Amino acid sequence: MAKNTKIQWCDDTANPIMGCLGCELFPKPVKVTNAIDRKLQEAGYQWPSGKAYELLDVIIDMAWKALSEEQRDPEFGLLPGVTTSSIYHARDVVGQEIAKLLDEDAAKLVVETIERQLTCYAAILHLNRGRNLFSPERQMINGYAPMFESPTPFAGRLEKAACSKSLVCQERPGKPWLNDLPRLIFVSDMGDAFSRQDDFDFLREEVEWIASSKGRRHLWLWLTKRPQAMASFAKQLGGFPENVCAMTTVTSAKSLYRIDKLRQVDAGMRGLSVEPLWESIADKIDLSGIDWVIVGGESDRKRKSEPFALEWAIELRDRCREQGVAFFVKQLGSRPMQGGQPLKLKDSHGGDWSEWPEELRIRKMPKCFWDYRSTSAAWSQDAKHLAAIDSDWG
Ligand code: SF4
Repeated sequence: MAKNTKIQWCDDTANPIMGCLGCELFPKPVKVTNAIDRKLQEAGYQWPSGKAYELLDVIIDMAWKALSEEQRDPEFGLLPGVTTSSIYHARDVVGQEIAKLLDEDAAKLVVETIERQLTCYAAILHLNRGRNLFSPERQMINGYAPMFESPTPFAGRLEKAACSKSLVCQERPGKPWLNDLPRLIFVSDMGDAFSRQDDFDFLREEVEWIASSKGRRHLWLWLTKRPQAMASFAKQLGGFPENVCAMTTVTSAKSLYRIDKLRQVDAGMRGLSVEPLWESIADKIDLSGIDWVIVGGESDRKRKSEPFALEWAIELRDRCREQGVAFFVKQLGSRPMQGGQPLKLKDSHGGDWSEWPEELRIRKMPKCFWDYRSTSAAWSQDAKHLAAIDSDWG
């Protein structure tokens, strides 16, 4: 799934770079250890600030020293020092130490705190498929970054996606919102391609596939939490190809600043992924220059997700309507709330729209996608070709 994947709400995904330098869904190590300190203090334990980091530093250093020379070689893929991945992989060992220092309840609290801090789906997959300092013999799964914090380029993925069959004029069974549109390819759901400027040369070559005659038959949705870096990259290109929708993520009022940065990206289409939404943002959001808003609640099978109040989505829908922005509800998440009460759904991710309140069964595509479809020479040639095939069949 990591190379060119299928996801429910669009046609495909493609990841030229796997891995990422993190964000609020995969915080820096010190943020994780600060959260541990805070949770222990709030629970009434005598626990000085900074002690969780010191403890993890010792545990991780011991694990590093126990590695063979070959496993310490950068080629092997493990990163030295306290990293967010190593904290996650160390959580059981940390729990055992905390049980000795404090008690079993504290140990449980610490393990839960570590797990709750890491909510990025791409990161969780990497943590389970990449290198593990505490289990160095474990085989890595090909196609992933060795550690999530080591963004790793994979040449050829955008080429493969660009060469996919055109879907213009085609129905998508079970996905009526996509009918007739060019193939929608979501770029970067397994990392953030704009984590490092060093990768820009690689990306420039890969983007040529998006702008190629094959790539122009599709629409590419490129998501980043680093819209400033995306803006620099697009500037180097002289602007993104016209079939790229530049997108960024907003999860709360704190990340609204990303929308201003997104407006600086030289692109013909812009969208927001407001997912997971953690609080009401409708009265603070500025949607000028934005074509599309996708909204969703947090969903995680293993841990208790943050709640998602449907009222936040409804307010946002109304703002979108006022400003002529297409609105798309992706999922209600694992913990939807309505009127302050949990909304019980059969689908554990809240992804089955037949279960949603009617007022939120909305999956609109932006006008710019339809404009691209109707004006693009790339696909209209396809349409002529398809028409020729149709007439051959009488
Ligand atoms: S891949 Fe996206 S969600 Fe995950 S850590 Fe990176 S920026 Fe955050």
